[in-house]
Amino acid sequence: MKHIAVLTSGGDAPGMNACIRAVVRTAVYKGIQVTGVIAGYEGLINGDFRKLDSTSVGNIIQKGGTMLKTARSDRFRTAEGRLTAMENIRKQGIDGLVVIGGDGSFRGADILATEFPEVRVICIPGTIDNDLYGTDFTIGYDTAINTVVDAVDNIRDTASSHNRLFFVEVMGRDAGLIALRSGIACGAEAILIPETKTHIDKLIAQLERGWKRQKSGHVIIVAEGDDAGGAFKIAEIVQQKFDKLETKVCILGHIQRGGNPSCMDRVLATRLGYEAVCGLLDGKNRMMAGQVAGKVSFIPLEKAVKHNIDVNATILEIAEIMSL
Ligand code: ADP
Repeated sequence: MKHIAVLTSGGDAPGMNACIRAVVRTAVYKGIQVTGVIAGYEGLINGDFRKLDSTSVGNIIQKGGTMLKTARSDRFRTAEGRLTAMENIRKQGIDGLVVIGGDGSFRGADILATEFPEVRVICIPGTIDNDLYGTDFTIGYDTAINTVVDAVDNIRDTASSHNRLFFVEVMGRDAGLIALRSGIACGAEAILIPETKTHIDKLIAQLERGWKRQKSGHVIIVAEGDDAGGAFKIAEIVQQKFDKLETKVCILGHIQRGGNPSCMDRVLATRLGYEAVCGLLDGKNRMMAGQVAGKVSFIPLEKAVKHNIDVNATILEIAEIMSL
């Protein structure tokens, strides 16, 4: 392995820059040439490459987003698009690829490395959703939940001062991990997630109970993929049956994807960036570098795809007990 390329793909996540930095500096240390690809797979197809060295990745560890830009690429989903990408990879003399992204990006990387075994790929989990097998945490998740916690703490001030009922919608189309963890940390009165059925009557009974004991303000965290609909829809249904508190809705949206990465995300990103380069040098291919129980682990890409992680029943129970 003489020349590797690194790219970020799919949704951006805080910590991607720290990871790029680690890949580049590890490669430089090991004496390997390293190239950055601009805008993910689109950059591979367009031949948009930048030579990187230790200086190129200075002063980025603390920055959110990705210095290499990220994108979604429909062309890469086609055999023709991937062939063009491969021709550009060949022209550059690249023999290893590090892909930082989510499960869609992993699928693309796996297909490329299967079709063209001359290039080896290692992927690194970079997504705020934390919904991949083979790693306890994905890069960006810790920062995202801390952003949610800060926002909900602010909303809680208003909820308490005005005795209001707030529905706060957080990211999580398929997984409620952001909602659950941040909801517990914020002392949410209820946490509504896609993995469990939402019973509106149960929610209203809970609100009545809180109202009777003169709770000052209620905050309900709603994952966007909850089966009862988004926060606006749920708030509307609830308001028709429970009108004792003024109801407000707040959609946190893209603020959850940005911001300076937390210490945990910077360290995780640095460690996995280092391991990905070492993995390529060891001959690993079509694997994801993750961290399980504090140890680095490599699993085949096809196993690291998105899934609905079984929500820990005890965590759900704790969330419910704490909201009494
Ligand atoms: P994420 O990596 O965050 O899950 P996406 O699901 O949008 O984001 O995937 C990022 C990109 O990966 C897609 O735009 C596409 O270029 C590529 N990709 C995803 N699935 C496939 C696939 N089945 N075949 C080829 N490329 C894919």
